[in-house]
Amino acid sequence: MRVFEEKKHLSCLIMMEAEEPLPWETDFYSELPKVELHAHLNGSISSNSMKKLIAKKPGLKIHNKMTIIDKGKKRTLDECFQVFQIIHQITTSPEDILMITKDVIREFAEDGVKYLELRSTPRKETATGMTKRTYIESVLEGIKQSKQENLDIDVRYLIAIDRRGGPSAAKETVKLAEEFFLSTEDTVLGLDLSGDPTAGEAKDFLEPLLEAKKAGLKLALHLSEIPNQTKETQELLDLLPDRIGHGTFLNSSGGGSMDLVDFVRRHQIPLELCLSSNIKSQTVPSYDQHHFGFWYSIRHPSVICTDDKGVFATSLSQEYKLAAETFNLTQSQVWDLSYESINYIFASDSTMSELRKKWNHMKPKVLHF
Ligand SMILES: [Zn+2]
Repeated sequence: MRVFEEKKHLSCLIMMEAEEPLPWETDFYSELPKVELHAHLNGSISSNSMKKLIAKKPGLKIHNKMTIIDKGKKRTLDECFQVFQIIHQITTSPEDILMITKDVIREFAEDGVKYLELRSTPRKETATGMTKRTYIESVLEGIKQSKQENLDIDVRYLIAIDRRGGPSAAKETVKLAEEFFLSTEDTVLGLDLSGDPTAGEAKDFLEPLLEAKKAGLKLALHLSEIPNQTKETQELLDLLPDRIGHGTFLNSSGGGSMDLVDFVRRHQIPLELCLSSNIKSQTVPSYDQHHFGFWYSIRHPSVICTDDKGVFATSLSQEYKLAAETFNLTQSQVWDLSYESINYIFASDSTMSELRKKWNHMKPKVLHF
């Protein structure tokens, strides 16, 4: 009887262990060295930083809950863009931008991110006197100060064009990007095209984007985020961007095509894929239907990213975990996914070699060889 009881007790323990991940399994994703290539500064603000910002502007009556989409909750893509409008109301001064840049960098470093390309649209705020130039300078100062604090993370900046600003703002942003590209010694590396995909038309931005490319800036373009944009998607692809943000509908019957997929494959353009973002903004109905599955199955260069870790209440470790659990990836496959993402960074070959060295050094510890 006693033996039976003990056996029963033991089997309960085994069941518990089987249901709850072992400590090293939970830690695997945070211990995994990671590269983050698609992170919008304002969307990455954590709940803690948000509280600090809200406390500085009590008159606005903004509540923390208005800027975060919690676990299990969803919003339409349009509502997500409204969340960003709220965030922009509380990040209005160069001091705010400096603070959020430092906080976001520290949080990514704490999550095991070793290389980060942050993207953000320079904004002008008449009330505080912030200009697009001082906005960029504040992000760069945040990067510089984080470096002085010896955080184990290498940070670069992609200057973003918000589609809502139209072609004239885009041209102004490209001019600034070219200037900072030359003056910052490899910190400003490229341009992002983002914002509400229903705003403006791709053709409005082709000329400034082409100019930026000619000047040596890399291009990371959000495209095919919503259905039925085949023509605009092809126009943006014809620029031969260095990376694609989301590309949600490239391979779908709702607005994608085999021609688009073939084009992306032929040119080996890497995709930045953000699972929680697409599920929570309802552009993808469920995790198992996420287009990561398609691109991974054909071994196309794909990088797991967060998009907006603050708004979508996630972390890069969490995104890797979601991808692994949804698509049954082994730890070794997850490791390879992270290691291969080094190939798609915008920094120089010497930075790539340094990162590979770091990954190889960490491999035995993380994979428990
Ligand atoms: Zn994005």
